[in-house]
Amino acid sequence: DMTPIRRALISVSDKTGLIELGKALSERGIELLSTGGSAKAMRDAGLTVVDVADVTGFPEMMDGRVKTLHPNVHGGLLALRSNPDHVAAMDEHGIGPIDLLVVNLYPFEATVAAGADYDTCIENIDIGGPAMIRAAAKNHGDVTVIVDVQDYDKLLGDMDKHNNATCTKFRRRRAQIAYARTAAYDAAVSNWMADAIGFDTPRRRAVAGEIKQSLRYGENSHQQASFYTDGSNRPGVATAQQLQGKELSYNNINDTDAAFELVAEFDPANGPACAIIKHANPCGVAVGTSLTEAYQKAFDCDRTSAFGGIVALNQPLDAATAAKIVEIFTEVVIAPGASDEAKEIFAAKKNLRLLLTDGLPDPRKPIMAYKQVAGGMLVQDKDVGYVGIDDLKVVTKKAPSEQEMADLLFAWKVAKHVKSNAIVYVKDGATVGVGAGQMSRLDSANVAASKAARMAVELGMDESPAKGSAVASDAFFPFADGLLEAAAAGGKCVIQPGGSMRDDEVIAAADETGLAMVFTGMRHFRH
Ligand code: 5GP
Repeated sequence: DMTPIRRALISVSDKTGLIELGKALSERGIELLSTGGSAKAMRDAGLTVVDVADVTGFPEMMDGRVKTLHPNVHGGLLALRSNPDHVAAMDEHGIGPIDLLVVNLYPFEATVAAGADYDTCIENIDIGGPAMIRAAAKNHGDVTVIVDVQDYDKLLGDMDKHNNATCTKFRRRRAQIAYARTAAYDAAVSNWMADAIGFDTPRRRAVAGEIKQSLRYGENSHQQASFYTDGSNRPGVATAQQLQGKELSYNNINDTDAAFELVAEFDPANGPACAIIKHANPCGVAVGTSLTEAYQKAFDCDRTSAFGGIVALNQPLDAATAAKIVEIFTEVVIAPGASDEAKEIFAAKKNLRLLLTDGLPDPRKPIMAYKQVAGGMLVQDKDVGYVGIDDLKVVTKKAPSEQEMADLLFAWKVAKHVKSNAIVYVKDGATVGVGAGQMSRLDSANVAASKAARMAVELGMDESPAKGSAVASDAFFPFADGLLEAAAAGGKCVIQPGGSMRDDEVIAAADETGLAMVFTGMRHFRH
């Protein structure tokens, strides 16, 4: 239902597959128009190419800022072939129709990722490319638009089936992909600028990303899913290099992200740390004098749940820790590097996925966080809130000891990464009970206590490891009951935001039970 493609405009920054495409089109008798670099590459390969400059009557100018922005190009892309007025306008002004547009844009995202300066990033904003893409996509009734090297073969395949024309279905899908590309491109520009000019608030942000991979399925097998990168290059699951193991699943990616963001709270300068995650919640977090010790302590918090978990480390994986990890079934290990010996140990476990990153994400760097709701999207700053020892206010008669204070701050960091309501018991730099995602704080305290009790059984301990522990609550105790539950489980000191209308009651209960309690003044809800 369409006349064959006769004239194509090719203007690509990524020259992958360009010569092959140019040849294939040439062989089909299609006239090739092209811009400077693309034209030169094709000419060097022996192809006949018309310079766009000859079509526009203007040289490419201003460092390439103006190449294709001309009615002879845009008229050829936008004219409706079935509209006599449009055809008359083409005739009157000597505009030839352009039936196929192949463009890939200046590599703006890659330029930002490479850490280029402000002016270089600005110069890498493609203007003429998106303008042509949007024009051709609008006019997809008559014009085929290709923005992705991966689609070259599909284009030729479709043309072969239709006598060098393309079918409507093909053109519509390419147009839709084209607008996805220009939207993602402009979003990358806007988000880079927000960062570069220091306007990092959730107001008036663009939301888009580039597809990184299609996933086998989503959270469940009947759901389709894809993984997108946001172009920020933040170290983590999106930028990690996978050394071995099966392809990551949707849930793997979600859990690995949770694990790595949590472990990144622990500055490697202060020693090794390990977080083990199941269903986006930590089932064990610990620091240690060695990475192996940190892993062992994290593992001992909840051995049952750690099975099939995701392990994140804040330091490069060493051989001793690798040997410990492979003792049980683990889905994913993510770390900022690994020794050759450690890699060798893992190589024997074919299914274990090893992800290596370029360092840790900065837990204080404000980035946007998105959550979909029916008919819209919630956008907020990621929770980068932090309290140090000087921000804490002792509210009880008893003050925490130095060791207790260290455990309280540790517990607080972990609680920030536990789904609300969160109650976390910590002793000697390791979680000993995590209560996550309950609808009441009392239930969370109970869950954490029962996990600690089970740990005592599993490890053959005489008493619950929660005895003498530091307790963190991600939000204030609305009543004294949750606090008393924590005390009954063995908690000796408590860290919580404070701010309840019944703070007095809660503080009195703490004093009565001999607890030391500190207020952070900051809440860490996480849903
Ligand atoms: P080439 O390597 O062929 O010289 O340039 C190809 C690149 O130029 C493509 O990425 C294309 O999107 C971009 N481009 C095409 N026309 C224009 C224009 O008028 N202005 C700007 N800034 N870029 C253009």
